[in-house]
Amino acid sequence: MDDPASLSGRLMAEIEARRDDLVALTQDLLRIPTLNPPGPRYHEICAYLDARLSASGFSTELLRATGAPGDSDRYPRWNIVARREGAAPGACVHFNSHTDVVEVGHGWTTDPFGGELRDGRVYGRGACDMKGGLAASIVAAEAFLSVCPEFAGAVEISGTADEESGGYGGVAWLAERGYFSPERVQHVIIPEPLNKDRICLGHRGVWWAEIETKGRIAHGSMPFLGDSAIRHMSAVLSEMEDTLYPLLASKRTAMPVVPEGARQSTLNVNSIHGGEPEPEPGFTGFPAPCVADRCRIVIDRRFLIEEDLGEVKAEITGMLERIAARRPGFAFEVRDLHEVIPTMTERDAPVVRSVERAISRVMGREPAFVVSPGTYDQKHIDRIGRLKNCIAYGPGILDLAHQPDEWVGVDDMVESAQVMALALLDLLAGSDSS
Ligand SMILES: [Zn+2]
Repeated sequence: MDDPASLSGRLMAEIEARRDDLVALTQDLLRIPTLNPPGPRYHEICAYLDARLSASGFSTELLRATGAPGDSDRYPRWNIVARREGAAPGACVHFNSHTDVVEVGHGWTTDPFGGELRDGRVYGRGACDMKGGLAASIVAAEAFLSVCPEFAGAVEISGTADEESGGYGGVAWLAERGYFSPERVQHVIIPEPLNKDRICLGHRGVWWAEIETKGRIAHGSMPFLGDSAIRHMSAVLSEMEDTLYPLLASKRTAMPVVPEGARQSTLNVNSIHGGEPEPEPGFTGFPAPCVADRCRIVIDRRFLIEEDLGEVKAEITGMLERIAARRPGFAFEVRDLHEVIPTMTERDAPVVRSVERAISRVMGREPAFVVSPGTYDQKHIDRIGRLKNCIAYGPGILDLAHQPDEWVGVDDMVESAQVMALALLDLLAGSDSS
């Protein structure tokens, strides 16, 4: 259906011709073990990207997020921002990828930093999340520059630190310095592994908090002389079972969150701790008998675009106050740990429409529109950068992220690179003249 002589046809063929280069680039990136924490190799991967993108005509900046959480002289948080100006003024399309990967974990049957190519898949920690996506965006941009050197606008590619630990030494730091302001960048694509035929419009909100119940210490043989903070916490947990979880399950969202189970409000108790501290490693004695004077849980509440963060918090304090009203001696404290506001790019935003058209052109089918159950760096681009025209789109299967034997399919990378290149053509060359 594509006229091979058209710009879009030539662009797709150009990417197909770069298939081996795309695989080699992915393998090179996987062989730099950018494990976070602690994040020891950010400079090395930025230097690699610098050499590659400079050779392709990009101006590059290596930026250390000095003073950001996690940054230290031992583990500096390096980022790279590369920009290539077109022949005329116009919009800027920015591809943002995080360069960090999560810990290896157990169960691998292949070298997690070997970049093995087998049966059309490249294996390694970060293959799908998200070095395959980073490589696809680089090859897409390079092919676009060679086929359309006279384009209007600019192309940017960034490799950023610490997405897996919140993005404060990466996208958030850059956004605070104007790198994602609407004056500089107009369209953002984040090649996270959402599958090659899905467009991710945003994510749910997050509120993490610590809830503490108070008690009074006493000898464990005479608990009636104290007041157990653990028993008070058990009243909190059973109140959650009786009233809170049913309430959360009844709150449904119009956001197309995947998987389906996340299309409602959710709450996880991430941890619980009460009484004396865990013994130090190597200690072989018995614990001492004490009534717990403190018990703490950390809650992870994911909320919907239809909910208000103030109301989400009030739901928890209201529940605790209800318990306090009927339970003698019940005292509590709630401490905020972390919050992210939900975000969802408009379905008809320009970057969404361009990627939608490109997917139907490359794959011959309509894309699915999804929203992520958890957050990613779009939160900083939206809130700090004030840029709404942002999506996640990239190769790889989300379920494989953070798993052993993580892989990305070569065909999937090629097709998604074609989609990214056609989106560039659409956004920066006005029309694909096919
Ligand atoms: Zn990721």
